[in-house]
Amino acid sequence: MLRRFLCQADVVVEFEPIDPILVKSGYSTIDGPDMVPVVTYRSGSKEYYFPGSSLKGVLRSHLERIARTLRPGSVCIPYYDRRRQLPVPVAEERNSYGCGYRSRSSDDSSAQSYADSCAACRLFGSLKFGGRLSISDAYPLPGHQPKLERRNGVGIDRFTGGTVRGVLFDLQALVGGRFAATIRLVNFELWQLAALNLLLADLRDELVGIGSGRSRGMGRVRGTVSRYALSYVPPVATLDGLYQLASDQERQAYGLHEWSPQQPIQLPPPQKYGVRSLFDISQTWADYVNPLAPAFEGFLNWHGGPKGTAS
Ligand SMILES: [Zn+2]
Repeated sequence: MLRRFLCQADVVVEFEPIDPILVKSGYSTIDGPDMVPVVTYRSGSKEYYFPGSSLKGVLRSHLERIARTLRPGSVCIPYYDRRRQLPVPVAEERNSYGCGYRSRSSDDSSAQSYADSCAACRLFGSLKFGGRLSISDAYPLPGHQPKLERRNGVGIDRFTGGTVRGVLFDLQALVGGRFAATIRLVNFELWQLAALNLLLADLRDELVGIGSGRSRGMGRVRGTVSRYALSYVPPVATLDGLYQLASDQERQAYGLHEWSPQQPIQLPPPQKYGVRSLFDISQTWADYVNPLAPAFEGFLNWHGGPKGTAS
């Protein structure tokens, strides 16, 4: 990835489960990424937290759904390897092999892999590189521990949809609580900041579900932004992204998307930290959602979907 630090977004999100969140063990789910809260001991007491890797999976699949809605075939199916015969029900997605399973014989540099990768892989990573977005584990805030309840579940046959005789499993559900996690987006293109903002808006509007059992009314969560900071090393006064800050050579090598908002977005006065300027947009980030949103659809249409040959 780019060997220079140019810009970064740091967002603290507080997650508040509205429905109980199922805690299962040893079961894979068919209704999306698993969100298994993990128990740990901190300061001598038991504490549940959501692993950052699971939260990242939830945000990724939500963004993939938005991208496929805006433009079918624009993002890959990350686990879809040509060498395995995987049935893909939607015709438009049958060539959506995972970017991580694609290559280009002439140039397999990480810059070329980034340029070839779909929106979801550029943002969240693939087998080839780590992605620009990372998210920390979400721990309960002091005084906001969830409660644990026991539930019973009946085993469902995946093929017939009927119950499986003799399969009754214990479930535990986390109820309430308030968890905080930090999302970091390094060297963002403006369409990536737009994508992050779309995710934050959907979290705020309770449109992102986590955990299993979403089909039976579990796993709704509200995500509230409690802090949002942008930092830049190059001097800026308006909201810029990697395209504006990179060199011509970097724009070419990484296939950066050229896009600027119709009206330049003015940033508030910065706080200086050494060579970094930090802009606190905790109160105003939601104002940037609409002016930036066209960047995301613009990228999907311009890029056209995963590139390179599926081996
Ligand atoms: Zn991809």
